[in-house]
This record gives sequence, C-alpha cells and structure tokens, in this order.
Amino acid sequence: MKTYKIPVIAGDGIGPEVIAEGKKVLEAAGDNYGFNIEWKEYPFGAEHYLATGELISEEALKELSNYDAIYLGSVGDARVPSGVLERGVLFALRFFLDQYINLRPIRLLEGVETPVRDKGPEDIDFVVVRENSEDLYVGVGGRTKRGRVHHDAEVIRNLYSVKFGLDIDSESDEIAYQVGLISAEGTKRVMQYAFNLATKRENHVSSVDKMNAMTDIYSFWREIFTKIAAGYPDVKTEFNLVDAMTMWIVKNPEWFDVVVTPNLFGDIITDLGAMVQGGLGLAPGGNINPEGTSMFEPIHGSAPKYKGLNKSNPIATIWAGAMLLESLGEAQAASGVMRAIEGNLRARKVRTFDIGGSSTTSEVGADITRYIKQSY
Ligand code: NAD
Ligand code: MN
Repeated sequence: MKTYKIPVIAGDGIGPEVIAEGKKVLEAAGDNYGFNIEWKEYPFGAEHYLATGELISEEALKELSNYDAIYLGSVGDARVPSGVLERGVLFALRFFLDQYINLRPIRLLEGVETPVRDKGPEDIDFVVVRENSEDLYVGVGGRTKRGRVHHDAEVIRNLYSVKFGLDIDSESDEIAYQVGLISAEGTKRVMQYAFNLATKRENHVSSVDKMNAMTDIYSFWREIFTKIAAGYPDVKTEFNLVDAMTMWIVKNPEWFDVVVTPNLFGDIITDLGAMVQGGLGLAPGGNINPEGTSMFEPIHGSAPKYKGLNKSNPIATIWAGAMLLESLGEAQAASGVMRAIEGNLRARKVRTFDIGGSSTTSEVGADITRYIKQSY
C-alpha cells in the first residue's frame, strides 16, 4: 500500500486540537481509498520559540522542501509579540517554499447559513486564486522626517531580484511609504494557474485590481491577464475593480467561478468570502507551489481564548486536509472527505457552537470520520 509522509505543524492555540481531528479524518480516508499516512510532527510555534528562541531553522526549511505537502494548524500566542511567529514561521515557510499561490475555495456547503440573504449553496461556489508573494507585501517601505535621505531596498525572489535606491527629499514633517511591485514572471504564473483551474471548472476567470487609481501596477496586471487569456479562447473573462468586487460577492456571488487577484486585494476579499461561506470555522486555504511543496491550513488563527476547550470547529482544517489529498493526486479520497463533511453539515446534528451547535471539536471529527467509513 502506498504511504505518504506528511509533515505536520500543529502550532499554537486551537491548532493542535483541530489538526488532531484533521489527521483522524485523513487516516480514515486512507483506509477507505487505499493509502497510509505517516505523519511527521514539527514543533514550531510559541512553545518551541519560548523554550529555544528558535522560530524555524534553515535545516528544517530545507527538510520540509523535500515533501509535497505540509499540514498546518495555526500559529500565534499572546506571550509572543504579534507578528513574530506569523512572520518567523508562516511567512518564512511561504517564502522559502515559494508558495506563490494562495488558494481559497469559497463554497457554501448545504446545512450552513450564509449571512447573504436569499443565496444558497448553488449560488456560492467559487475559488479565489490570490497572488501570494508580491504587490504591497514585498516589504519595501520606510519612514522619514523632513530632509534628505537615501534608502536602499531589495526584493529577492527565486524568479528575479530587484534593487531599489530611493533618494528622498521631503518637506513634510514625517512621511511613511510602501512600494508595491508585481513582476511579469510572478503575475504570469499565477494567472496561468487560474486559467488552468478554470478549464477544470466553469471556464470563467474574473480578474481583480484597482487599475483606475493605481495605474502603473494594475495596468501591467491587466496587460498580462489579457495575454494569458488569449491562450484560453474558451474561457470567459472580465476585469473587476476591487471595490466593486466586494459588492458583487455579496450581491451576485453566483457570477464567479475562478477569481484571480493581486495579494492585498486577495487578503481582503477572502475574508469577505469566509463570512459568505459561513464563517472562519469553515474556511480552508492552501499555500501552493505547483512545482514544489504546498501547505494546507484553516485560514483562521490560533483563537487563543478557545485553546484546550475542545470547542472550536475542526471543519476548516479537515477541508484543508481534503485539499491536501487532492494535491497529492488522491482526488477520490479528497471528494470522499468533502462528502463526509457535507454529510455532517446536512444532518445539522453534530456541530460546534460557531454554527449553532454545542458539540465538541472531537465529536465533530468523530462524526465526519463515521461518514467516511460509511461511504465505500
Ligand atoms: P482567529 O482566527 O484566531 O480568531 C478570531 C475569532 O474567530 C475567534 O475569536 C473565534 O471567535 C473565531 N474562530 C476562529 N477559528 C475558529 C474555529 N475553528 N472555530 C470556532 N471559531 C473560530 O484570529 P485572531 O483572534 O485575530 O488571532 C489570534 C492569533 O492567531 C493571533 O496571534 C494571530 O496573529 C494569529 N493568526 C494566525 C494565523 C495563521 O496561523 N494562519 C491566521 C490569522 C491569525
Ligand atoms: Mn487575512
């Protein structure tokens, strides 16, 4: 029988509780669909950092890059200043492994309430493909008081590197600035991914930008989109300004199939998407490197106030596990896991507090496992 070795970073807060349920469900899927999973646990997160001072080592990053997929809970802990673990562990992983796509299915499952009136599962089913390494997130910026100053900055990527030398001569009391960039290489590859995905779905790609206000960066985005689209004559396309996009997601979510977006706007619209699909307890994500190591996780954080209470919703994590199986090529097992989640939700019996129930994290995990075992 085939054995997959999968690294796990359970992390902080509720991370270990939800990951425990995800592992059980994926193991049950393996039993049904004919494979074994060997988990390899990594300790990164607050405890490890507080005990050793280490966030994540270069050796660990290299080691992790030998695997196809990582299963991640969440990091973040009140004893560590905000951002230290997120940047030092999560961003380090995403960056080192060049996970240039953030993949976010926005799907309302049957049995879940959406705050969007009169919309149901048949209306809310799209995928956001968010560029995950460029845009205003490249880390070029600074602050300076009145006068002249020179600032050197670098963006180093696997695909390219860019050096900036900024001569600033400011008459303002103080300014802060942030430079965004998108590259031809970085934009092409994310769009290529979005169009390929659309050909497996409904042949429709919607682009998001703010071309009317940030002309330089987003007219380049549109130019590249148009070029890539030319290679997919059967795929329907259109451009959306991000402000209008937030409106459409609420007003006409059924319009969308695959949405491709620059990094910052993607951050915003995927949180909106999480609410539309029923909340953080139900929102999974993948940080994808199609040629390398991808990482699957619930998009929620470590929700420290629920740590150890066995009450948080494990479904986002289990769903992320289904995405992980899909990325390994276990498509049948992945849809088996999704059918089991749907079975649980449709029955409206065993569910956590965030979606109106009073069951525990482990009861939900066990119930979903039971559905998996039934569906040979
Ligand atoms: P959070 O996502 O942890 O929690 C926000 C709220 O959402 C919670 O209080 C809870 O009401 C609800 N919630 C989240 N997950 C839930 C679940 N599985 N079941 C039920 N309810 C759930 O966001 P936060 O409170 O802003 O951040 C807490 C910590 O997590 C911080 O340290 C933050 O930096 C970190 N964080 C980590 C990640 C990550 O690891 N990818 C993402 C976001 C935040
Ligand atoms: Mn966010």
